[in-house]
Amino acid sequence: MAYLTLKNINKIYPNGFHAVHDFNLDMEKGEFIVFVGPSGCGKSTTLRMIAGLEDISNGEFLIDGKRANEMGPRQRGVAMVFQSYALYPQMTVYDNIAFGLELQGADEDYIDEKVRNTARILGLTDYLDRLPRALSGGQRQRVAIGRALIRKVGIFLMDEPLSNLDAKQRVTMRSEITQIHRETGATTIYVTHDQTEAMTMADRIVVMKDGYVQQVGTPRELYFDPANVFVAGFIGEPPMNFVRGKVQGGKLDVGGVQVDLSHKLKDKLAQYEGREIVFGFRPEAIRLGSHEDAYVLSADVELTEMLGDNTNVYIVMQDLHAILKVDPHDTPEIDSKLSFSIPYESVYLFDGETEKVIK
Ligand code: ATP
Repeated sequence: MAYLTLKNINKIYPNGFHAVHDFNLDMEKGEFIVFVGPSGCGKSTTLRMIAGLEDISNGEFLIDGKRANEMGPRQRGVAMVFQSYALYPQMTVYDNIAFGLELQGADEDYIDEKVRNTARILGLTDYLDRLPRALSGGQRQRVAIGRALIRKVGIFLMDEPLSNLDAKQRVTMRSEITQIHRETGATTIYVTHDQTEAMTMADRIVVMKDGYVQQVGTPRELYFDPANVFVAGFIGEPPMNFVRGKVQGGKLDVGGVQVDLSHKLKDKLAQYEGREIVFGFRPEAIRLGSHEDAYVLSADVELTEMLGDNTNVYIVMQDLHAILKVDPHDTPEIDSKLSFSIPYESVYLFDGETEKVIK
């Protein structure tokens, strides 16, 4: 039996806005799940329904097999870390972390042991006597996490906890949170709009758009097996390149080249004749030059971005613009012609109407 179960969860706000549609998820104990999607897709709303901060309009939420829809936040055993860490400015790090246990009336020795242990996990031992204003953003966020962690709860919820940090701090905190999760084994749901955070931290990711779950899967599944155009374009950086067009004579126009779709569509070729299709390939999936078992194309180089470990090459073929990722030693000249191959196995085809992947 799953530890947390969300069955056809819906949220309709009092103004009638339907923010979450039929959200389904089974979560195991100790799992690290990330909800990811663009702003307004319903991530925070879903998290707040799990926390008990927002009513569930429809559907059932179970904790350890028990219906939890009507339970208050405390009864559910959840701790939550928000984007704004809201520490008590006049209290030391020690007191900030201890506060929750003190409120519960725990005895002093117990609190002391817990605070020191939590501080050790979070690397805050040397800062226990400081006030929040004497800490960096990353350290403050760690205190906020410590404050949530110290209470023994079954479910740990985080809503964009890193969005107030700079890029470098975010990378550090990302791996620290993963480490803390490994040490504590707390069942965690983490909300972000950043696909890199989702890919690097999650056991499984829930991709959302416009209140609907698009796909649930491991980072690997989402990258290699995207269910639709949205997930394919959302996961991966730079994003997947897409070419939309009609299948004519079993072929698709890709920047002026008629590519033969029989390699990919096989027995579905006739079914798609005359219909719209989306042809997708990842910037990093191409090989320079011409190769076997691949679509061989030629393009004009518009711009290059040398990033150190790779170069992004912006190409144009008639009206098709795309990005290719190449080894920095292979960086082409701007305005030169570039020949490249997309292995058949690296091409994704999606139904032009439903935008679902064609298998
Ligand atoms: P963000 O990353 O911007 O926080 P999100 O994916 O977390 O976005 P939510 O905050 O869950 O999105 O909001 C989902 C949708 O519900 C949005 O369109 C939002 O405007 C709407 N919404 C949120 N709160 C309310 C409310 N109290 N009443 C009506 N609509 C709301």
